[in-house]
Amino acid sequence: MTELVQVKDILERLKTGENYETSSSAESGENSEIISVTTTQPNTTKNMAQFHFCRCKAEWFVRDGLGMTCSGLTYCLILFAEFVVIGVILLPGFPLSAWSYVHAILFSCLAFLAACSHLRAMTTNPGTIPKGNFTDENVKGLGLQAGDVVVRCTRCECIKTDRAHHCSTCQRCIRKMDHHCPWINNCVGEFNQKFFVLFTFYIMAISAYAMVLAIHYIFQCSDKDWKECAYFSPPTTIIFLVFLIFEGLLFGLFTLIMFCTQMNSVINDETGIEHLKKENREKSGTWRDRMKDTFGSDMGISWFSPFSSNLYHRKRNDYSYFDV
Ligand SMILES: [Zn+2]
Ligand SMILES: [Zn+2]
Repeated sequence: MTELVQVKDILERLKTGENYETSSSAESGENSEIISVTTTQPNTTKNMAQFHFCRCKAEWFVRDGLGMTCSGLTYCLILFAEFVVIGVILLPGFPLSAWSYVHAILFSCLAFLAACSHLRAMTTNPGTIPKGNFTDENVKGLGLQAGDVVVRCTRCECIKTDRAHHCSTCQRCIRKMDHHCPWINNCVGEFNQKFFVLFTFYIMAISAYAMVLAIHYIFQCSDKDWKECAYFSPPTTIIFLVFLIFEGLLFGLFTLIMFCTQMNSVINDETGIEHLKKENREKSGTWRDRMKDTFGSDMGISWFSPFSSNLYHRKRNDYSYFDV
């Protein structure tokens, strides 16, 4: 009821506006309403000055209990793998060998990149549309013509742009929302998809790497006395190795599936939600264009870097009317 009254109010306000009339089809897909413009209004110049949004507000963090727990667990699991690989496998098993140092450094670098990718995925604004931007001024500012439609999210009272969906955890409409992932405690959307893809890639890499090192260690040490290649007692060492292999298998497979799904999503320009809804959208550009759009640059080493500049800052100028 409350929502209907609000809609009515907004429509009344719009109707009383100069040369501006609208009617609501009240067609609710999912907490949204489609409002169509029935008469032509003067094509007003977009008044950018009306849309002042704080450009320093770059931080983004979702206060969700499950998400924060899963994120904390992610860092604990990375640290555990780092400890077992270096403190249980490499240094005791192959002391003072260049081989063990090379693998220790390589594994640590990959684990560091995985943690950084996670941090960027978690703290990058995924592409939120500001709450309450469905105002008379903003709708007028769109410069709509007769027959155009505006979709309004009734939960966050915003102008729902094409391909945006409302996330009940983030409590915001997210541009090009793929899904909400508790492991990164954030939505995967237009601006942080690269970091999410990198996170799955590096977790997949360290999972496989850790399992190979653990199996190699078991074969090497099974011929020797365990005391020669372990700091800990044999049962403790075995428990550490079993946990590491289990963790590697579980998260390696999980991230492999996620990585393939995400790459498919990027290449085919189809979000997870659009795939589920079987929405047939017209695709723009080639797969290379879509990769460039998601990863922020032409193919190169920067695609693998979680330190590249934030797409949120770079792309936001394209979306002045809906910017955060
Ligand atoms: Zn919304
Ligand atoms: Zn979300």
